[in-house]
Amino acid sequence: MKDSVLFLKKGREKSLLRRHPWIFSGAVDRVEGQPRCGETIRVNSHDGKFLAYGAYSPDSQLRARVWSFEQSETVGRDFFLNRIRRALNYREFLGYNAGDGACRLLAAEADGMPGVTADRYGDFLVVQISSAGAELFKNEIAGALMEATGCRGVYERSDLSARKKEGLEETVGLLAGEMPPESLFIIENGLRFKVDVYHGHKTGFYLDQKENRRVVRELSAGRRVLNCFSYTGTFGVCALKGGAAHVTNVDSSRPALETAEENYKLNGLPESAYDNIEGDVFEYLRHCRESGEFFDMVILDPPKFIDSKNALMRGCRAYKDIALLAFRLLKSGGILVNFSCSGLMERALFQKITADAALDAGREALIVRELTQAPDHPVPLSFPEGLYLKGFVSRVL
Ligand code: SAH
Repeated sequence: MKDSVLFLKKGREKSLLRRHPWIFSGAVDRVEGQPRCGETIRVNSHDGKFLAYGAYSPDSQLRARVWSFEQSETVGRDFFLNRIRRALNYREFLGYNAGDGACRLLAAEADGMPGVTADRYGDFLVVQISSAGAELFKNEIAGALMEATGCRGVYERSDLSARKKEGLEETVGLLAGEMPPESLFIIENGLRFKVDVYHGHKTGFYLDQKENRRVVRELSAGRRVLNCFSYTGTFGVCALKGGAAHVTNVDSSRPALETAEENYKLNGLPESAYDNIEGDVFEYLRHCRESGEFFDMVILDPPKFIDSKNALMRGCRAYKDIALLAFRLLKSGGILVNFSCSGLMERALFQKITADAALDAGREALIVRELTQAPDHPVPLSFPEGLYLKGFVSRVL
């Protein structure tokens, strides 16, 4: 370890000096030694000054990701324990790490742990390992997580296509402690939700929408709500708890809607208050338009439409299409809540797309609130790429 050295090209050390953790292939002058995939290497400036220790990834455009900027540090179990304790301290500051609660405990680069996300659901942790460096250390990381949190088990859900870029296969399984139960129940903002850590999306639950679910709850009184891309129906549960007249959830995933059904029961909501519709949101929005249906609030929380620069134009069109279709279903006083979780979509562009959609739908609207990811998905000042979730609450005039 640390025997291999990556030298940057002249002048390419600037971003590292600003504590940005990524080293792209184009910045690399040469690598001395024969580091294996994922191995910890020393990163030097062109003239041999120490900059960082990073995880080497020979097949990726992201040639190395920084573990540490401190020359005296050794990347290993104690290092991970310190990082995890720092992350825990921040969640405790947020008041996010209590009892049956759930939170993102490790948010990869944002917590100085590139390639590692860890979500806490009560006594269990679910991790995703997306980089070669993190893969190499995953047992140490799982052990350190058990020690720092006192959790009962760490389960891995690395069924991520992004692992291919790092030369890794998809994998799932127990990393430490006990297997989590088939159904886990968490409390968020006083509401109960079921989390299926084995079959759910990502690690089972979209923790990043926690604060936005609270916003929806506050704005829902008396409204007929269309919750598009509803997954397990959480925005809809919040809307009904906020006094919504009715909620229609639409999602293409049957298992997600089955869990949604349970979430409504768990929170004591009557069947007459909601519908769960399995279908394609694009088609459903058109169908509503054709059948002359209107809503008082439409929520659009689609999956990532843009996962590479090549997909930008196509993705922008998709975001615009759904926003346009949604605006047409809203009358004066109606509210659109739309999100983009694509990191490559800048907030200004997303605002413009939303504005274009309103214009084409013949609606004028005011931005009531700007939304973002919950603060347990932090954005370091030195790593603006950590911000991925953008949303607007717009009210039709
Ligand atoms: N709002 C949810 C998370 C949504 S994730 C929450 O806070 O929990 C995106 C969801 O969109 C997934 O559940 C996925 O099944 C669904 N989905 C993806 N493409 C779709 C489409 N074309 N029509 C309907 N649902 C779709």
